[in-house]
Amino acid sequence: MPLTKQRRRLPTPEVSYRLAEEAAATLPIHEIGDTGLDSETAYELITSELLLDGQARLNLATFVTTYMPAVAARLMAETADKNMIDKDEYPLTAEIEARCVSIISEMWNSPEHEQATGTSTTGSSEAAMLGGMALKWRWRERMRAAGKPTDRPNMVMGANVQVCWEKFCRYWEVEPRLVPMEGERFHLEAPEAVAHCDENTIGVVAILGSTFDGSYEPVKEIAAALDKLEEDTGCYVPIHVDAASGGFVAPVLQPDLEWDFRLDRVQSINASGHKYGLVYPGVGWAIWRNEEALPRDLVFDVNYLGGHMPTFALNFSRPGSEVVAQYYMFTTLGREGYHRVMQGAQNVATHISSAIADMGPYRLISEGRDLPVFAFALKPEVENYSVFDVSDRLRQRGWLVPAYSFPENRQDLSVLRVVVRAGMTMEMADFLLDHLAEQTKFLESLDSPMPSQDEEKRTAFAH
Ligand SMILES: *Cc1c(COP(=O)(O)O)cnc(C)c1O
Repeated sequence: MPLTKQRRRLPTPEVSYRLAEEAAATLPIHEIGDTGLDSETAYELITSELLLDGQARLNLATFVTTYMPAVAARLMAETADKNMIDKDEYPLTAEIEARCVSIISEMWNSPEHEQATGTSTTGSSEAAMLGGMALKWRWRERMRAAGKPTDRPNMVMGANVQVCWEKFCRYWEVEPRLVPMEGERFHLEAPEAVAHCDENTIGVVAILGSTFDGSYEPVKEIAAALDKLEEDTGCYVPIHVDAASGGFVAPVLQPDLEWDFRLDRVQSINASGHKYGLVYPGVGWAIWRNEEALPRDLVFDVNYLGGHMPTFALNFSRPGSEVVAQYYMFTTLGREGYHRVMQGAQNVATHISSAIADMGPYRLISEGRDLPVFAFALKPEVENYSVFDVSDRLRQRGWLVPAYSFPENRQDLSVLRVVVRAGMTMEMADFLLDHLAEQTKFLESLDSPMPSQDEEKRTAFAH
């Protein structure tokens, strides 16, 4: 059974006079057709159906790249036939991957004397699985060496973690210790992180860029608190930083913020090349601070030009075009270009957030000063409508601004979230603000509450 629901057949739009007659009956929906359509017809019909998708650039819900320069898209199309795993056939693509690993580890301040080691992945989720496994393997080695049992591993993280960490824990049989939110603390902080650790903790995951509000977790403070724990109790707990979004933002916007390999306790970091790395989906990166941080028995050797190439991945085949596109973005933008793009996104984010704060009924949960991402809620006195109504009404104008409730302990808090990415201009921001002001005015004019929506829809959270 496919995991996606079977859909009703959509009415086929009339795409051209030539196609109008043949269109109605021919698109295969649930079964492959006996005969094929000619390629132009198939192209027309499929692209017409896809028009019913949302407009990617009006999607303020996603963190994932929705804009690349046209030449980058061309380069990706030209390299779509390269298989990343085929190091023998495509040694230059493999070389480009190694260059990217080196560029990224340098961005993350890998110390000169250490040899950072890493790989491209399909995204942060795969990178998280790899980072988590390395932590689990190393913990097991430490416990075995100490003659202690290895059957109860746990991992400490905030309740705001992205779902990939809960997946990691379930798939690899690690107890997830999710530190709940408390009051106005919406992410993991040092005292709570340490309080949840013990000798069975394989690691603490700190998030650079919480998906709930765009805030950075205080990695340096968490590291210092874990240093103290080790001094006091001898218990060593490493840190993995999930920098899915922040990995390409912090190095250019907050270069003095110490969250990366400058901190000894940070053993590995992941980021999504397809978020603020500025590449279309799916590419991610996993980097370890040195070879010791990545247990040898997790690494497989593949033949590579008669030699050997180490690989650590869950997937085998995947597109080489993603890695080539990442290298292209590094090459064409440089550090200065990444700074320009991120600063532009941040200016737009803070422009929107401050205008929203001035609108009246809203209060900001964050401003967009860490990631160019912020969340806002309705003030308690607003009773006739909810953030879910605001989200619905913005959708009528094409904007996708998700509304969702916070997790355990703060389920009473529902917010809207705006993710500003490359490609969102100040002009677009002003249109969004106009539309929001217009819809808010309507909602404010209601004499009685909006009919409530079904619960399932209200609590859905889109990462
Ligand atoms: C997006 C995100 C992920 C998952 O990343 P993918 O690249 O989509 O697999 C993990 N963690 C955080 C913090 C994220 O923002």
